Amino acid sequence: MRVSVIGSGYVGLVTGMGFVKIGNKVVFVDVDERKIQMINNAKPPIYEEGLEELMKKFKDKYYATKNYREAILNSDATFICVGTPSREDGSIDLTYIKEASKEIGKALKEKEDYHVVIVKSTVLPETTEKVVKPNIEKYSGKKAFEDFGLAMNPEFLREGVALRDFLNPDRIVIGVKDEKTKEVLEKLYEPIDAPKLIVDIKTAEMIKYASNAFLATKISFANEIGNICKKLGIDSWKVFEGVGLDHRISPYFFRTGIGWGGSCFPKDVRALIRKAEELGEDPIILKAVMEVNERQPLKMIELLKKHVPELKGKTVGVLGLAFKPNTDDVRETRAYIIIKKLLEEGAHVIAYDPKAMENFKRFYPDVGEKIEYAGSAEEVLEKSGVILIVTEWDEFEKLDYSGKIVIDGRRIWAAEKTARIYEGVCW
Ligand code: NAD
Repeated sequence: MRVSVIGSGYVGLVTGMGFVKIGNKVVFVDVDERKIQMINNAKPPIYEEGLEELMKKFKDKYYATKNYREAILNSDATFICVGTPSREDGSIDLTYIKEASKEIGKALKEKEDYHVVIVKSTVLPETTEKVVKPNIEKYSGKKAFEDFGLAMNPEFLREGVALRDFLNPDRIVIGVKDEKTKEVLEKLYEPIDAPKLIVDIKTAEMIKYASNAFLATKISFANEIGNICKKLGIDSWKVFEGVGLDHRISPYFFRTGIGWGGSCFPKDVRALIRKAEELGEDPIILKAVMEVNERQPLKMIELLKKHVPELKGKTVGVLGLAFKPNTDDVRETRAYIIIKKLLEEGAHVIAYDPKAMENFKRFYPDVGEKIEYAGSAEEVLEKSGVILIVTEWDEFEKLDYSGKIVIDGRRIWAAEKTARIYEGVCW
């Protein structure tokens, strides 16, 4: 099939290259000239394992453009993968979704064949039918489910293992209304062996929010118990190993630490809270889930102060800036909250991350421009006697922490074994 993908970020690029891998041709559309050029040179504008090799191997099966018309007229199905960030008040910002659906509508006006538009971006229930649909109808002069198809197909990939997740998902959720659209999506996903759940459009939208909210809850819950464990001298990792063996609970995504960041959980939980409030509901669990997560990174500073009561003028090493390992993504990273606090206390911060230093500096200039960046993790250890581990990159397991005070937010075993003084956040 010929597929167009609107928005070539973490989800769009991975989804598009995934569709290429299973035998389709793909046109990427983006508004960012730099990304378009990089994609056309087979260079991924983001870091994701296996992506560059795939882009090199299938160079003639895809290209990128700014031109919606060209992309829509030369494809059978279009996936909307633009960002859906948070507004200041936590509600969902649909600016990019509205722009994309308007441009798709304008291009569809010229199209004869039945074209299928699929929303893959995470959007709140009713957005596809109440925002995307009327926009496309208005600018195309056509009717949804009669002249063009419309579907919602949430994405569950995890950054860092995104390609693997796209090609081997736990499930594929397809929210549809008309038969023709359902057939197109079933055909497209046929090569992927996974349970396929066909539901209506707003149920598909809600499955994504409920999944993210549940995973976020699982971790905040573990961290709350973990904080109690820490005070009692109990290793919360052992506790959750024991709890996770209950098959009703499952051991995955059940580690204690300094909480979750990234481009999805925080904004999605916030958006769901706002939506619930709009509907007259008081989502007390979701609000507590957010609050635990905001407090959790500051546990590191609390523990640090036990050993170094005065931070003014002290050099503190920070290992890890990405919100999790194997990505260069720093959106809502816990590192920001921690480093900001360290700077407020007057510390000098020297940080290292294998992939995310550039992004950190660019995304958080208020903090990112006030810290020193090291060329390697070893350099951080050379220059500082106090180390905070914020992201669990594999290479941090290969270091010798002898003589150091280490406050560990993620559990790096090498640090636990070799540090002079070691404090785990919840263990
Ligand atoms: P991203 O910011 O990495 O990518 C979005 C892309 O859209 C950018 O390249 C941007 O330039 C482009 N864009 C913006 N406006 C555009 C327009 N009008 N036309 C064409 N392109 C435009 O975002 P992302 O992380 O890929 O997330 C995209 C969506 O997928 C979000 O709704 C997110 O919640 C959801 N999602 C993300 C993940 C994840 O792990 N990142 C996982 C599942 C779902």
